[in-house]
Amino acid sequence: MGLLDGQIAIITGAASPRGLGKATAQLFADHGATVVIMDLDEAHAQDAAADLPGTGHLGFGGNVCNVNDCTRIATATLAAFGRIDILVNNAGITQPLKLMEIAPENYDAVTDVNLRGTLYMSQAVIPAMRKQAQGSIVNMSSVSAQRGGGIFGGPHYSAAKAGVLGLTKAMARELAPDQVRVNAICPGFIATDITAGKLTEDMRAQVLAGIPMGRAGTADDVAGCALFLASGLSSYCTGTEVDVNGGSLIH
Ligand code: NAD
Repeated sequence: MGLLDGQIAIITGAASPRGLGKATAQLFADHGATVVIMDLDEAHAQDAAADLPGTGHLGFGGNVCNVNDCTRIATATLAAFGRIDILVNNAGITQPLKLMEIAPENYDAVTDVNLRGTLYMSQAVIPAMRKQAQGSIVNMSSVSAQRGGGIFGGPHYSAAKAGVLGLTKAMARELAPDQVRVNAICPGFIATDITAGKLTEDMRAQVLAGIPMGRAGTADDVAGCALFLASGLSSYCTGTEVDVNGGSLIH
């Protein structure tokens, strides 16, 4: 028996083959969920959905910063399955900039995808979750929010991910009476393609030196935490931020 048997999960930004969203989609499907993958490119989203174990998973192209895309995908999910049990707000981008290098377009890009996208996609599924009186929303923040960067992303990334934590807690408070739980994951340094080839060997060595477990995290390390927060195993957890960082921030 799976932990998510019969449940419908939307995961944003889950088409990246080595990414946290795809690993989460895979684990959710292993546990019996039907998964809807939303990512910028529709063909990539569909390929990622087809790659999951089991049948019935769907992929949609859409931009989490676009409120109409978010609504369209929530509506299509409801038309296909009649309910939405889980949303993982995973889509995100980062940029390794110093404070004074952040131009208006950098600020817009990074806060839009990470923070605005989390709000818009949540707003798109909340009416259905409220009606069901059941739902779990998992937001992808970052250790950068908690310790003020120091890994890869610049201050605008830290700020956007800290915004995600505030949004998570406020949503958790407001949605708790509707039996909708909202939690955040703060991954540390995880080996994925988000650094887009811009992580130098020096930066990598420096980051690894600060991790008590002595290794980068894997996408599966984060997926396990997402499964816990999405499933009934975490039934009395809401408004939490769960660290998945190999001990790189112990507080
Ligand atoms: P990734 O780059 O592998 O995947 C991100 C996915 O998001 C991509 O498929 C991309 O196409 C999609 N995406 C980007 N903008 C989008 C938009 N506007 N609408 C829809 N989809 C969009 O990254 P990842 O490492 O798997 O990161 C996943 C999440 O985890 C991000 O929110 C990231 O900030 C967060 N995170 C990652 C790390 C890490 O070390 N990898 C650490 C902390 C937090």
